[in-house]
Amino acid sequence: MVGVLSLTGDGAETEVKPEAIAALGQMLRGRLLTAGDAEYGDARQIWNGMIDRSPSLIGRCIDTADVMHCVQFAREHGLLVSVKGGGHNVAGKAVCDGAFMIDLSLMNRVRVDQRGPTARAQGGAKWIDFDRETQAFGLATTGGTLSDTGIAGLTLGGGFGWLGGRYGMSCDNLVSADVVLADGRVVVAADDENPDLFWALRGGGGNFGVVTSFEYRLHPVSLVLGGGVFHPLSEATNVLRFYGEFSADVPDELVTMGVLLHTPEGFPVAAIGACYNGPIDAGEKVLDPVRRFGSPLDDQLQPLPYGILQTIFDPAFPPGARYYWKAHLMGSVPQEAVEIMAEYYQRVPSPGTAVLFQQAGNAANRVPPEATAFSHRNARYDLVILSGWTDPADDDRNIAWTRELWDALAPYSLGAIYVNSVVDDDEATVKTAYRDDTYRRLSELKAKYDPTNFFRLNPNIRPATG
Ligand SMILES: Cc1cc2nc3c(=O)[nH]c(=O)nc-3n(C[C@H](O)[C@H](O)[C@H](O)COP(=O)(O)OP(=O)(O)OC[C@H]3O[C@@H](n4cnc5c(N)ncnc54)[C@H](O)[C@@H]3O)c2cc1C
Repeated sequence: MVGVLSLTGDGAETEVKPEAIAALGQMLRGRLLTAGDAEYGDARQIWNGMIDRSPSLIGRCIDTADVMHCVQFAREHGLLVSVKGGGHNVAGKAVCDGAFMIDLSLMNRVRVDQRGPTARAQGGAKWIDFDRETQAFGLATTGGTLSDTGIAGLTLGGGFGWLGGRYGMSCDNLVSADVVLADGRVVVAADDENPDLFWALRGGGGNFGVVTSFEYRLHPVSLVLGGGVFHPLSEATNVLRFYGEFSADVPDELVTMGVLLHTPEGFPVAAIGACYNGPIDAGEKVLDPVRRFGSPLDDQLQPLPYGILQTIFDPAFPPGARYYWKAHLMGSVPQEAVEIMAEYYQRVPSPGTAVLFQQAGNAANRVPPEATAFSHRNARYDLVILSGWTDPADDDRNIAWTRELWDALAPYSLGAIYVNSVVDDDEATVKTAYRDDTYRRLSELKAKYDPTNFFRLNPNIRPATG
């Protein structure tokens, strides 16, 4: 083992001596990696291929004790720390040049307890791990809309998903969490134990500690009526206008998406995606207007296991491509916004790009804003511009198009951003991810649980002073 140069929390360089690295390596049941190790290249990679960063050290943890050792080590040496869960965040905060990465990606075990029913999942699990295990029992909880996303980042930011209409957001289904705090202690956060921390974890992102285990409430979910109905892009304005009217008043069982994208064969289309989580015949009736609207190119709405629905959009967003995105939380689908989206998508620089309205779901909207740190409960949709391409030479063009469209749509937004969509994380932008009262409370709790801002590589909540 050789020594490494590493960044400290305030950005200075410090040398971590070989003896210290060897001692930590011996304490971990997982592996401690430096740039010379074979596994290092894989471990530093995340979903967004634009992010090419080299941590000084990577602690590949396999249990809570490993995470505690890594946090204590980083504290003792004053190191800057990043935390990797599923590694799916577009901004790429999971990895940072010169920092110590605490990597939970090997901590992906999930255990169902049928008595609740509940499931406990380790902090590095992805939704594919979670759904695979829970679906075997005919159970599920709200998780995103792809299988490759990490449960940790998604839940800690809130969590929009197909089941949000009946069960609320992912964070609304969290029962408890085991958290390694900045001082190295492990605590439980739940309604009846550290309730302030539990409130902060449900929307406050990775600001409060490393969550090594999430306990979720489960619901019986097996077959859903899901998939999409596809129209030519020339119909984009009509389709999205219809989508806005249709989705404004849906039963709890239904969550929808209105999206402009390219098919795997490269055709630009306007599509309506849906998941009806209830009796299939009732879903057929509810979704009949979607099937009958206009002259679809293809109707792929069908009964299918929820776990399969969670994987069908994966091919549209392959890991390793280059990604950039911007988003707005919206209260409705305004006609003007639809026209702007349709006009911009005609000249989208890359077929790997999708622009979409993701519906929050009725139950998600019914939760009182002060109940969790995800407080934008009036947001009916997350409008996401998810740009994807492969050639680095196209970076500027795609990023510029994304920002321009985002600016053009700003007048129709609630003036708020979903924290998991924050890419430019200056303090002003981060504040738009929270209501003022929520940010103030989070900032006070940050001062209580992480006064030195040890966990700062995230959309950062500054500890309150004085
Ligand atoms: C294509 C795509 C589709 C998406 N779809 C949805 C969707 O349907 N619904 C939705 O709500 N969101 C969606 N998202 C956003 C997603 O919620 C975020 O990207 C989320 O941060 C991913 O979590 P992760 O654990 O994979 O991320 P990572 O990149 O591993 O982590 C992101 C941040 O979370 C924190 N973190 C990660 N693990 C832990 C942990 N164990 N303890 C404490 N902090 C931790 C860290 O601060 C880290 O920087 C999507 C993103 C993409 C790119």
